[in-house]
Amino acid sequence: MKVLKFGGTTVGSVQNVLTSLDILAEEAKTEKPVVVVSAMSGVTNLLASMADHAADGKDFSRYLKELEDRHLEIANGLIHAANRESVNARLQACFRELESLLHGISSLRELTAKTRDSVLSYGERCATFLFSEAAAQRFPKALFVDAAALIKTDSGFGHARVQTEVTDLLIRSFYSEHKDRLLLVTGFIASDQQGQTTTLGRGGSDYTAALIASALNSSEIQIWTDVNGMMTADPKMVKKAIPLTELSYIEAMELSYFGARVIYPPSMTPAFLKRIPIVIRNIQNPAFPGTAIRHDIRKSGSNIKGISSINDTSIINLQGSGMVGKAGYSGRLFSLLSREQINVILITQASSEHSITFAIHPADAPKAKKLIEQEFELELQAEKLEMPTIEQHLSVMAIVGENMKETPGIAGKLFHALGRNGINVRAIAQGSSEYNISVIISRQDLPKALNTVHDAFFIELKKTLHLFCLGTGNISSTLIRQLQEHHSFLQQHNGIQVKVVGITNTRHMVFDADGLPLDNWQEVLETEGEPADLEEFVQRMKRMNLPNCVLADNTASPAPIRFYEEVFRSNISIVTCNKIGNSSDYQQYRNFKDTAFQHGVDYYYETNVGAGLPIVRTLKDLMMSGDRVLRIEAILSGTISFIFNNFKGNASFHDVVKLAQEKGFTEPDPRDDLSGMDFMRKMLILARDAGYALEAKDVQIANILPPSCLQAASVPEFYAELKAAEDYFQALKDKAESSGKALRYIGTLDNGKASISLEMVDESHPFYTLSGSDNIISFTTDRYKERPMVVKGPGAGAEVTAAGVFADIVNVGAH
Ligand code: ADP
Ligand code: ASP
Ligand code: MG
Repeated sequence: MKVLKFGGTTVGSVQNVLTSLDILAEEAKTEKPVVVVSAMSGVTNLLASMADHAADGKDFSRYLKELEDRHLEIANGLIHAANRESVNARLQACFRELESLLHGISSLRELTAKTRDSVLSYGERCATFLFSEAAAQRFPKALFVDAAALIKTDSGFGHARVQTEVTDLLIRSFYSEHKDRLLLVTGFIASDQQGQTTTLGRGGSDYTAALIASALNSSEIQIWTDVNGMMTADPKMVKKAIPLTELSYIEAMELSYFGARVIYPPSMTPAFLKRIPIVIRNIQNPAFPGTAIRHDIRKSGSNIKGISSINDTSIINLQGSGMVGKAGYSGRLFSLLSREQINVILITQASSEHSITFAIHPADAPKAKKLIEQEFELELQAEKLEMPTIEQHLSVMAIVGENMKETPGIAGKLFHALGRNGINVRAIAQGSSEYNISVIISRQDLPKALNTVHDAFFIELKKTLHLFCLGTGNISSTLIRQLQEHHSFLQQHNGIQVKVVGITNTRHMVFDADGLPLDNWQEVLETEGEPADLEEFVQRMKRMNLPNCVLADNTASPAPIRFYEEVFRSNISIVTCNKIGNSSDYQQYRNFKDTAFQHGVDYYYETNVGAGLPIVRTLKDLMMSGDRVLRIEAILSGTISFIFNNFKGNASFHDVVKLAQEKGFTEPDPRDDLSGMDFMRKMLILARDAGYALEAKDVQIANILPPSCLQAASVPEFYAELKAAEDYFQALKDKAESSGKALRYIGTLDNGKASISLEMVDESHPFYTLSGSDNIISFTTDRYKERPMVVKGPGAGAEVTAAGVFADIVNVGAH
């Protein structure tokens, strides 16, 4: 025989009740189950508000009306016309009874825990009655049962303790007397010795089901609710949560104790003792097998089973030198709290014994503080203890799983994920059972913490990176297109999902935490975007407080640079092709690196040098592996590369520069390239990455152009001067060619000295054969001394630059 419990969402909708009747019919084919029904979702809260309003002498009629409407609407949808009048009349009688109870509270202005339980019991009474009437239309043997007659408790109203022996007897005898009936029992409610209504604690209908199952030695308890079972996290908080196939009782207990309210923790005990499996199923997806909680579960691959949380808690901190080495403080403290029925969620004590921190429900905090002050009055006066302090607006997050036991690295992974996302941990507790590690964090960080930790532990679910893009020019557009094209490849091969959650250019900005569309983002930006404001963009990025964030600065503007440190401090990684930040003063470059490091985030700028070519990364790998850079030689300007690769034979320098401009290889004023400034910035960044604290002025630049060309007032005049200086260039070329050499504008870093100069290289030099607008770099290091390591390829263009930015983003995700 099975016990089936239908939760609040089931009874709150006509369709769900009909589905549950189908489920009953199916079960009844083998053996008639016992059914437990809880109040419609939200109704218990509604009743609690009514009681509070009444006690304050306020008007509660609005709530009462809502309660009536909800039940009558369901009755209309479920009950056949012939029966409707009598069902409605009985519902009405129930509402009037409740109303007079509330009037009583109101006139006395007093709400005892006992009366409160009576008020709350109407949720289950009405819903179960309605459900049983609907059931009776299909199963004539259906019988409404008020659990107050079956379940006996003490008089701990609000959270009464069950007297199991007498309860077992009552349930068994009732069941055997009504063997031919289909029992539909109210969840949550019970009664004490005097027959007064008590309740089993919020969420307690699951417990009712477990108590009945235990008394009747059932074969299974089915908990029908609105999710596909116990999930890896609360699906309302973590969209990627997935249902678990199996859990042990201890795992389910730990998860539910720390907030997974899909099952009420005390329900586990009777089931565990009698080895009755609990199966959590989804009423909206009845074909889905759900989660089984039982003995002898198979070993699963993942280290943790789930993550749960308690949204609102407070902590109390008790500290003082008097506690060090003295037995009895914690004993006194916790007996006091237990005596006063204050539930302690978790406790931590520093090994120095200087302080004890414990978490409790916020409503209990002021009372607990007062009690502690009374209990330890003498110690406080003697200054052996400091006044206890309360901290509010906190949450507990717990990771749970039996596989955690004796598996090293779990805590490391948890704290790495939290730290990298800037989530400060206030207190930590690990049960010695090692089934659970709990952390206390700020409430506002909870959604971010849950999602980031979920990503870290359930890697098969693809880590989500949240990307903010600065700039909508060529690079950003190409990047977003590439992200879209490689979306599924990234998920499959790198386990990464990139969501673009913010974009701005100088005119508009737009945000969407669920991800902007990658196909028509331009349109969305133009039509739905708000006016651009970089300062506000950064603030918004922070406020969104999403896990695993990356800012891609795809501009060439100095404006974003001043926000970099703030971004790192907000635990957001930066990926950038913008050279300005790294090539201004050295201290700024250092600050970026240090701040990123301190906050555990990444700062990648591969595309600062040679676009997508692996230059910065190669240098970093060499340095990290203990190699020493002796010399770097490089051609890092595609424009200059093109010019000198084509300035040969009969060509004139003037014509080659013109051709470069016509092909779009130069800036509007070619002198911006030929002056070597951009090249200088790249050399400076390389020198810094190679460990030299250079400033821009330390890079020696030999001019390619004679002063007349540099000084020309306009671009046409520049070309005229270039023509006039043709002899100078031809002489250079002739000199090179006559000795079998080629002219190359080469940046060199030698022994910490950086320079850029026009040189003549012979055939044996790796730069001799360079063609087109390619970049090339050679690293001579301790390890690569005889034959330097050379990286060569296209070093400019939106496609390869965006690909470099893309690779950097994926690298952030790899952590
Ligand atoms: P019922 O009224 O059916 O008893 P509850 O609201 O008590 O339903 O419990 C179901 C809810 O529990 C789900 O809607 C979900 O939001 C929440 N929940 C929290 N943590 C989890 C989890 N780990 N797995 C599944 N559901 C969870
Ligand atoms: N209706 C009660 C509550 O909301 C019991 C339950 O839903 O299980 O707490
Ligand atoms: Mg519940």
